Amino acid sequence: MRVPDIIIAVDGYSSTGKSTFAKLVAKAFGFLYLDSGAMYRGVTLFAQEQGYINGANEISPALEAALEGLDLHFENGTQLFMGDRCIEGVIRTMAVSNQVSPVAAVPWVRKWVDERLHRFSENGRVVMDGRDIGTTVFPNAELKVFMIASDQVRAQRRFDEIAAKGENPVFEEVLKNLLERDYIDSHRETSPLVQAPDAFVLDNSEMTLTEEIAWVQGVIQGKFGILC
Ligand code: C5P
Repeated sequence: MRVPDIIIAVDGYSSTGKSTFAKLVAKAFGFLYLDSGAMYRGVTLFAQEQGYINGANEISPALEAALEGLDLHFENGTQLFMGDRCIEGVIRTMAVSNQVSPVAAVPWVRKWVDERLHRFSENGRVVMDGRDIGTTVFPNAELKVFMIASDQVRAQRRFDEIAAKGENPVFEEVLKNLLERDYIDSHRETSPLVQAPDAFVLDNSEMTLTEEIAWVQGVIQGKFGILC
């Protein structure tokens, strides 16, 4: 049976497997997948390349006006583009990971990203993953999932992802980066990472992807009374 036209919000800590899960759900249900973290990474790359952020994570206020001229959009489903340049690879490097959370803590950066996320979701039937999707971006999302996994599992996943792209990560650094981002994301003033009270918690530390899909199908069946 067809899943109704809903918005599915997937939030959680770094590297809990949100994007893998959200992409699978989108594929299984014929939904559009949107990666909100990629947008924050794209803004961070722009700030780095244009000199709006320094090594001490100080962000120039001039970035706000510059964002008006920035074109970030998705092509082919999941590839982030800056104008006509595909930046999907470069936004996942440690250089961007190390500065993205301070950039994402700036209220006018969040406003800029939120406006675009709403525009991209106009037609509904969307699975979006991030940190504040079920609390701030789409507080009325019909289905909210909050993902958790153990620190070791999360760091190993991120480590493998970075290594597969040809970088030479150090496990301890990857773990440190995850924990630092979690801290900044959970303690910022604007839209901190918190579990929405009406979210379903998915701990996938020891689950296969098949089990995760079976889990969400069970949740949908329980909530909407349909088999999918
Ligand atoms: O999901 P990903 O790890 O790629 O996100 C990168 C960073 O973007 C997060 O660590 C967080 O600082 C920020 N982010 C956010 N709100 C979202 C999605 C991501 O603040 N909705």
